[in-house]
Amino acid sequence: MNDTEQDNYLEAGRIAHTVLHKCAAEIKPGAGLATIFDMVLDEIESAGAAHSFPPNISLNNCAAHDTASPDEIRTFSEGDLVKLDIGTHIDGYIADTAVTVDLGDHALLCEASRMALEAAIDLVKPELVVSEIGKAVEEKITSYGYKPIVNLTGHALARYSLHHGLSIPNTGLFGNGILKEDMVIAIEPFATTGSGSVHETPRGEIYQVIGNSPVRSPAGRNIMQKAEIMQGLPFARRWLNVPKAELAIPTLLRQGNLYLYHCLSDIPDSFVAQFEHTIIVTADGPLVTTR
Ligand code: MN
Ligand code: MN
Repeated sequence: MNDTEQDNYLEAGRIAHTVLHKCAAEIKPGAGLATIFDMVLDEIESAGAAHSFPPNISLNNCAAHDTASPDEIRTFSEGDLVKLDIGTHIDGYIADTAVTVDLGDHALLCEASRMALEAAIDLVKPELVVSEIGKAVEEKITSYGYKPIVNLTGHALARYSLHHGLSIPNTGLFGNGILKEDMVIAIEPFATTGSGSVHETPRGEIYQVIGNSPVRSPAGRNIMQKAEIMQGLPFARRWLNVPKAELAIPTLLRQGNLYLYHCLSDIPDSFVAQFEHTIIVTADGPLVTTR
């Protein structure tokens, strides 16, 4: 990795860290999801970074991929467990980081996820088999009496690419990939009071361009045009501001032009906590960009 690349990763990480904590501090009972969504966007832009994906704001048993819809009216409530997961990039060099805000009595669950992340980061070095990270995550979370979510993983990052090849498991059961010097990875242990696996729910607000078949409808063309500025990275329906978008989207999905990220949830009435950092694998060990 050359100095410019590393500087960009570090700058994206520094901005993501600052924005994440500033915005997480505004997550309180009565505050709106849309307010937090818009605040994250504003803060990232005014700090001089770009968005690598829409802020994910996922509540309680929802682990990931929820966010504000165009007409969002939901507010946070006493007792909620809120995951705020944000992404920046500088010239395509991405930072991906998350915290959980506890508006209830889930301190131990949060600690399990946070300590699992720390234990995982401590292991990071070239030639490590990633199942060792999964094993550490699983051991830490189960030591608190909770389960890791086994079908959500961390991932390698590359320029303009959020999930690049390697997955970083949250269990020791799989993962024969090997860390190499200069790899950039996101580690994100999810701790749950539920089943330990997530399923897709009907709700989905986050899309990604995955094809370029010809589009006939003006609204569809408008959506594809607006999505282009994300350069293949995910975007939110809330960003589009296209009249009749909801009529054009099903066709774009069917054509294979768009992919929809459904919300991923554990069983009803369970709670999920997540913490995440982006890390450069160096010969000297982990270089956390989002701290
Ligand atoms: Mn993330
Ligand atoms: Mn991630």
